[in-house]
Amino acid sequence: MKQARDKSNGEIIDAESLKHIYEDGLSEYECIDEACRIKLLPCSYKPINKVRPYFKSLDGKNHKDLCKFSEYLKLLEKAKNRALTESEMEDMPFPTKFKKVKQKSGEDTIFKSSIVGEEKVGQGGIRKKTSGDFVEIFNKSKVVASISPIVDFYIKCPFNRNVELEIEKTFKMYMYWFKRIEKPLSTGNYKGKRIFFGRLHTSNRKIIETEETLEIALYECEAWEKGGKNKSAVQINPFIVNIDKSLISKNKVTRIKNEIQYAVGDKINAFKDKKKHAYLFFWGEVPTKDEPYKFKVLEGALVARYTQILPTIQ
Ligand SMILES: [Zn+2]
Repeated sequence: MKQARDKSNGEIIDAESLKHIYEDGLSEYECIDEACRIKLLPCSYKPINKVRPYFKSLDGKNHKDLCKFSEYLKLLEKAKNRALTESEMEDMPFPTKFKKVKQKSGEDTIFKSSIVGEEKVGQGGIRKKTSGDFVEIFNKSKVVASISPIVDFYIKCPFNRNVELEIEKTFKMYMYWFKRIEKPLSTGNYKGKRIFFGRLHTSNRKIIETEETLEIALYECEAWEKGGKNKSAVQINPFIVNIDKSLISKNKVTRIKNEIQYAVGDKINAFKDKKKHAYLFFWGEVPTKDEPYKFKVLEGALVARYTQILPTIQ
């Protein structure tokens, strides 16, 4: 499991942040569903661990019958092979709204800015994230503060991408929010703000970090041309994913680099699998005329996954 609740303070944390928490000492963890709360063990959180950090239950112990979170994970598995029924979807806590909640230093804005308008936050489901950037919300209102669960729903539910997702007061079906970066600019029809995704190179040299920015060159480009060493193909105008480091915390930059490492590591280890790739997903903006191949990441919202992306099936 990717998330758990810290028993000492009730915060919901992402397994990914265990690498940072580890330095200050780990806590005890439990399932995030209030009706379940089985004990969960943190795994693979040491810096030397190559596998992405995760939580597991003790000795394969099952979640309680009423546990919505584990039901959700089971439904996600089913959703890969068939469309989920309306009644299955009704109870499913899939994300319906993406909302960044910035935490200003020294000011407790979390509750004020999270419980606004129509959103009723059930069962005390709001928790501050220990990484310090944002709060993570996973609850009945289905509002999430990270794109991670949104990306997982998109990947795992190719039959159900017609459900609506709200971002910045705009409602669109999942399938229209997501946009694959693959075609040249002239035919790619890249517009506005989207959750863009494209394939990562397996080479570290394609990631360039300076004081101000982190830039990741994607495998996708305007064209390939022969002319490299030994007549190998070289990229013409690769698409670049640009992250402005001044807008996010140092921890977040490290997390982003870790994310990429996990996905690329998985790809390298399973090089024979031609269907799966290391993908970068980010909430971002299309390139401007001045920098026609550069996509800008908004609010540091970026995740990487080693996966196969199935076409949308309706
Ligand atoms: Zn549970």
